[in-house]
Amino acid sequence: MSLAEFVRALPKVELHVHLEGAMAPRTLLELARRRRISLPAADVAGLREWFRFRDFDHFVQVYLACSAVLRDPEDFALLIAEFAADQERENIRYSEIHFTIGTHWQNGLPIDEILEAMEEAIRAAERQRGVVLRLIPDIVRDVGSATADPTLEWAIEGHERGIVVALGLTGREAVCPSEPFAGHFEEARRHGLHCVAHAGEHAGPASVLAVLDACGAERIGHGVRAIEDAGLIERLRAGRTPLEVCPTSNLLLGVAPDLAAHPFDRLRRAGLEVSVNTDDPALFDTTLSREYLRLAEAWDYTPEVLAGLALAAVGHSFLPDAGKAALAASMREEIATLAERHLGRPLVLQGLLGAPGR
Ligand SMILES: [Zn+2]
Repeated sequence: MSLAEFVRALPKVELHVHLEGAMAPRTLLELARRRRISLPAADVAGLREWFRFRDFDHFVQVYLACSAVLRDPEDFALLIAEFAADQERENIRYSEIHFTIGTHWQNGLPIDEILEAMEEAIRAAERQRGVVLRLIPDIVRDVGSATADPTLEWAIEGHERGIVVALGLTGREAVCPSEPFAGHFEEARRHGLHCVAHAGEHAGPASVLAVLDACGAERIGHGVRAIEDAGLIERLRAGRTPLEVCPTSNLLLGVAPDLAAHPFDRLRRAGLEVSVNTDDPALFDTTLSREYLRLAEAWDYTPEVLAGLALAAVGHSFLPDAGKAALAASMREEIATLAERHLGRPLVLQGLLGAPGR
C-alpha cells in the first residue's frame, strides 16, 4: 500500500474548513441552475478551471459567486449534503465547519429557516453516512457589529439545537482589530459556546495575542506566524492552545513561499498542538488527504506521525469529553486494522489521546 493510499484510508478529523469554500463545482452548477444564475462556465470542467487559484482578488470573486447562489434554506441543505459526501469519501469522521451566516443575513435570507434546514441535513448526514458535522459561525472583522449581532444570536440558537460548537472570527486581521468583538465572545462563552479566531496568517504575533486576550480564543485558525515570537510560542505551548494549520492555503495566499519554508514542522517540534486542515478545499483544489501527504513528503513523516496528527485533532475538537474518547477509540481501532492489513505491522501510537492508560 502506498503512503497516499494509507493517508486516504486513515480516519481523519477536520477543524478548519469553510462551508462556502468547500462548494464543489458540481454543487455550484446545480444551485446556479436552480436559481437561473449565469456563471462564467456552463459545465463542471469549465468551472473547475475557473476555480483554479490565480490571485487573491480572483479567489474572492469565486468565493462570492459560491455565496451568491445560496438563496433558499434548501440550498444550504444541499450544500451540507454534498459536503458530507465529500468528507465521507475522504474518511473524515468529524468536521467543525466555519460558516459566514452574516453574509446571508445581509442578503436578506431567513436565517432561522436556514438553521432548521442545516440541522436537518446535518442529522441526515450523521444517520446515513456516519459523518458528524458541527458548525462555527464566523463574525467577519471587516463587516463590523451590524452582522456580528445576528451571527452571535444564530450561534447561540444553533448551540441550543446541538449543531453549533463555537463562535468564530475571520476577516482581514491585518487591518481590522479583534478587540471590538470581545463582548460578543464573552456573551458566546456565557451561553456555553467555545471561541476560535483566525489570526497569525496575514498578520504577525500581535494579532494572535489580541485574539487570545480580547476574544479568549481557545484555538487559533492558522496561527503559523506565531513562529516569529518565542514568547508567544511558549505561551501557546504552555496553554496547549491548538493551531489549525492549512498548508496549501498558506502557500497560495503567500503566507509562506514554499513548503520548505512553512513553519508546520518547526511548530510541531516546538511542542505546539497542531492539526492539518484544508481551509477552502474546492477553491484551493485540495483534499485533506493531499494536505497530509504534502507534509509527509516535505518532512518524511511516517504513518505513525500522520496517524498521531489525525488523533491529535480529536483532542483539539470541541466534542464533549465522552464524544472525544469514543471517537478516538474508534479511530484507533480503525487505524490498527489499517496498519495490520496494509502495512503488515502495528503502529506505535503510545502517549496519544485514546491510548491505553490515558
Ligand atoms: Zn479560514
